[in-house]
Amino acid sequence: MKQSQLWLPTLREAPADADAVSHQLLLRAGIVRQLAAGIYTYLPLGRRVLRKLENIVREGMDQAGAQELLMPAMQPAELWRESGRYDKYGPELFRLKDRQGREFALGPTHEEVITALLRDELHSYRQMPVTLYQIQTKFRDEKRPRYGLLRGREFLMKDAYSFDADWEGLERSYRRMYDAYSRIFSRIGLEFRAVEADPGTIGGDGGTHEFMALADIGEDTIAVCDQCDYAANLEKAEFRKVTGTETEEQHQLRTAEPTKLHTPAIRKIDSLVHALGCEASHIIKTIIYLADGAPLAVLVRGDHEVNEIKLQHSLSIAGLELADAETVERITGAAVGFAGPMGLAIPLAVDDAVTNMPIGIAGANETDYHWRGLRPGIDFKLAIRGDFRNAVRGDGCPRCQTGQLVFRRGIEVGQVFKLGTKYSEKLNARFIDAAGKEQPLIMGCYGIGISRLLSAVVEQHHDAAGIRWPHAIAPYQVHIVPVSMKDQHQAEAAELLYEKLSAGGLEVLLDDREERPGVKFKDSDLIGIPLRIVVGKAAADGKVELKWRDTGEVKVVSLEEACSAAA
Ligand code: ATP
Ligand code: MG
Ligand code: MG
Ligand code: MG
Repeated sequence: MKQSQLWLPTLREAPADADAVSHQLLLRAGIVRQLAAGIYTYLPLGRRVLRKLENIVREGMDQAGAQELLMPAMQPAELWRESGRYDKYGPELFRLKDRQGREFALGPTHEEVITALLRDELHSYRQMPVTLYQIQTKFRDEKRPRYGLLRGREFLMKDAYSFDADWEGLERSYRRMYDAYSRIFSRIGLEFRAVEADPGTIGGDGGTHEFMALADIGEDTIAVCDQCDYAANLEKAEFRKVTGTETEEQHQLRTAEPTKLHTPAIRKIDSLVHALGCEASHIIKTIIYLADGAPLAVLVRGDHEVNEIKLQHSLSIAGLELADAETVERITGAAVGFAGPMGLAIPLAVDDAVTNMPIGIAGANETDYHWRGLRPGIDFKLAIRGDFRNAVRGDGCPRCQTGQLVFRRGIEVGQVFKLGTKYSEKLNARFIDAAGKEQPLIMGCYGIGISRLLSAVVEQHHDAAGIRWPHAIAPYQVHIVPVSMKDQHQAEAAELLYEKLSAGGLEVLLDDREERPGVKFKDSDLIGIPLRIVVGKAAADGKVELKWRDTGEVKVVSLEEACSAAA
């Protein structure tokens, strides 16, 4: 491709509202443009990268024996009512009506559609195992779309669904997908960890893993053992013991069942949990305590799970007042961050008498996280409520018993679930087993956020000058940059290289623009193609310069050597 012909609008400065390094770079390097919050156009360069990601994922799926299909994004609300998720999914579900007034949803995921499809087509154990997948645009009305493609409202996902006749079959299907995911993410060039995870709204009872790209901007915290292969999302992590010295009272608070906690305020919070309970038992994850056991705030997690109006209503039913940020700051002497990536801290009214108490906080496990200036394990302690566990940094590993858990931030790029019969029971999708008995289909589901991956890769692969695309997903593999297209030697050498490398099957971009060299090099660094061939004055002697974007290594070589180095 000749760069003079390519639609590649690069920007010197990132727009002010770009809120993550990858977001800034994707805008500056002419990869994406925003249409509305969380909704993006992929420009030609971005489309190429996205297509490569799609193809790596597609090949990984095909290799694992999965078959590609394509389901509709428009889904009748009826189906979602059948599964019970029409209400449960909450405001994250985009809803619309056709001209007859029939209700639809824009698919955030496809368990309902695939289960309904197979209940009409799959009747015998002989038709299994089968795994079907698609690569398709998904819609979720995220409460806080942000970080560019990391949390979009319209985004590209690969979703796969396995169907087995027995639980051992599900184990095998799950393992195949798990292994395929590991290969896919390695091939892309991502540093990642597979972690034990919480099932969230997809549900199912058979266990689940998330694949986390390690990056500081990640919204999840993962606990990784420094000695064995134990790794879990903090929401799910178990801890051998809490380190540091705990008072008896603190210990009691941390380990007590909610009903055994006695302060009146805690009883109030219990009734709050109860008030929210039927629909959202997992909403209230954590209560933040002062060291004397008085609750300071409720920490709610997630985006779509949290309906603020409902929460306020429930708080008032429970007889709790919301304290404002200022009050809490005055009392605690610390600044309050209400919306850390782990969730939303809703401060409860506290009285001034507790001014000098150190804060007990659960949920935040990083210094400066919810409360600026607070250090986990030193300034605050932890609490367990319901099924949610937290711990301080430095906790022991539950698996090997000798290692220490280390906390890292991760971007969830994929998740695999053993769904079991959750959807097949609800939607009545049954088959006849080998013994002639009717059984519900045993399912698994497996997602990869393809557009999110694009951002995650940039989070991991960039420097101050721009993106450094890993080879496997680079929009082009070679960038030929003649210093001056007006110089005949340079122009001819550049054209020659371009022809030869392209004919050899490489994807080559030739910067044939009549721009100043400084502009060309800046753009070249920014768009981050793995190998640059600079064609300068030495072209008259048949020499060019190779520069690898990743390492910065530079080499002066002949034209022939340049061809073989690129290939
Ligand atoms: P998150 O916890 O980040 O909200 P999720 O657990 O809701 O993600 P899943 O339902 O597991 O997401 O969907 C499968 C994959 O789709 C995720 O692992 C993620 O990579 C991707 N994904 C989910 N939501 C988004 C989004 N809003 N924008 C881009 N990708 C997303
Ligand atoms: Mg989500
Ligand atoms: Mg998640
Ligand atoms: Mg998930």
